[in-house]
Amino acid sequence: MPDKKAIVIGGGLGGLAAALRLSAAGWRVTLCEQSASLGGKMNERRSEGFRFDTGPSLVTMPWIFEEFFETLGLRLRDHLELTPLRPLARYAFADGTTFDYTTEMPAWFDTIRRLEPADVDGFLRYMRLGARLYELSRGTFLRRPMTDPPDGVALAAMTHFPLRHAWGNYDETVRHHFHDPRLRQLFNRYPTYVGSSPYRCPATLTLIPFIEYAFGGWYVQGGLYRMIECLAEIARQRGIEIRLESPVAAIEHRMRRITGVQLASGIGLPAHAVVLNGDASTAPILLGETTNALPITERSLSGLVFLIGVGRKLPELHHHNVYFSADYPAEFGQLFDDRVFPNDPTVYVNVPSRSDPTCAPKSGETLFVMANAPASDLPWDDHTVTYARGCVMERLRSNGFPDIESDIVTEQVITPQHMAARYGMPGGAIYGRHSHGWRRAFWRQPNRDGYYKGLYYVGGGSHPGGGTPIVLLSAQIVTELMQRYEAN
Ligand SMILES: Cc1cc2nc3c(=O)[nH]c(=O)nc-3n(C[C@H](O)[C@H](O)[C@H](O)COP(=O)(O)OP(=O)(O)OC[C@H]3O[C@@H](n4cnc5c(N)ncnc54)[C@H](O)[C@@H]3O)c2cc1C
Repeated sequence: MPDKKAIVIGGGLGGLAAALRLSAAGWRVTLCEQSASLGGKMNERRSEGFRFDTGPSLVTMPWIFEEFFETLGLRLRDHLELTPLRPLARYAFADGTTFDYTTEMPAWFDTIRRLEPADVDGFLRYMRLGARLYELSRGTFLRRPMTDPPDGVALAAMTHFPLRHAWGNYDETVRHHFHDPRLRQLFNRYPTYVGSSPYRCPATLTLIPFIEYAFGGWYVQGGLYRMIECLAEIARQRGIEIRLESPVAAIEHRMRRITGVQLASGIGLPAHAVVLNGDASTAPILLGETTNALPITERSLSGLVFLIGVGRKLPELHHHNVYFSADYPAEFGQLFDDRVFPNDPTVYVNVPSRSDPTCAPKSGETLFVMANAPASDLPWDDHTVTYARGCVMERLRSNGFPDIESDIVTEQVITPQHMAARYGMPGGAIYGRHSHGWRRAFWRQPNRDGYYKGLYYVGGGSHPGGGTPIVLLSAQIVTELMQRYEAN
């Protein structure tokens, strides 16, 4: 390949993965990251001997990480240790019910039977639907550019598409399969993995609970940030130029052809192609076409996160714990209609120190406490944070969470406003656009720009979507497209 230069804007997981793949394919790569560390949402903070992952806490589809390392000529297990989590999560409901969601089938079926015997059959049918959707997607949607015409594999898959339930509403499909309100609430949680409401997105997202149940939930020993550190080290060893604290202010172009980028410092960096890992909705701003950010009505969920170090052991908690609100439809109405923080939020508590003692001092626990929040542009002042924290703690308390207030050693808050500023995502929308309606669920930002030649998109806001393994697939598709359209 002639000497080709690519610039990657953003050092999130997708940006790093694209940089490494492009470098392996012979490109000269410069990666420009606006902040002082790599990783984007997948980041880390330390305080008082506690170590916190600030973003992802759950890894699914581990073979995608293994495949990615293989394409770099490496073995994942030589660099990182992925361990499966059993049970997947402990769920606590507003009516006082608590149970473990586990991939150990006999135990899980016993749990369902105690809740509602008929739902054992419902669960199996629901998983079968998820399996069919996954089978359809894995060689097609998840692995191919969305703008490519369907090939034989995709056409064959489409003829087997389980139309009736897949095109329907997600919540209606959950209701069709489960009678018990707690199981309905549990399975309605999955669309939040892509920042969306179960009441508005299509049932095609049923593939998410299937993937988690069939292939498990995983953890990276030492914290998920080890993945970023590992990729950054490989990138440096392979000669990828990494420029930290280098925000890109503009993507340069002439006659619809991308020519490089301009940094906020005024420095211009010429390139044959540019890959945007920042939120895809910021592209028109960087291209000088508009100053408007993604409209509020199109944004996926943001989150309010508390990173808490506790000075005692909490053996009653698992690695993943979820404390459900009393009224799920009302919670999503507040998030997406009223665009306010819910007065009764569902709260996710991740306690990595339950399976990884290196995250916390010997007699402590590391807590990542998160509730969904609207991706609005309203400021999060101290009063708002105090109010929201009160709502979070009240839900935890009433669902049986231990009283930790007097044992808190360190606490930091990450608001949607922090996320917007830190990661460059409008309103702090974690997954870019939401997936409401089947078209939006699948029609994400294509990986290759349809107008500007030489402009590509990688990461959770673009095809095939958000979440760490899917972001790696995005990097794979981008590299294939760049090899196809730019290599000569
Ligand atoms: C709180 C939270 C919890 C999550 N939980 C999970 C989970 O459990 N499991 C899971 O799989 N996923 C989870 N995710 C989602 C996952 O983190 C993301 O899908 C993934 O990390 C996104 O990677 P990305 O490649 O899109 O890049 P991002 O992480 O979005 O990084 C983009 C980078 O681009 C930089 N950038 C933007 N604009 C510019 C510019 N103009 N110039 C220079 N740099 C720029 C940003 O600073 C940032 O570093 C979570 C996310 C959050 C925030």
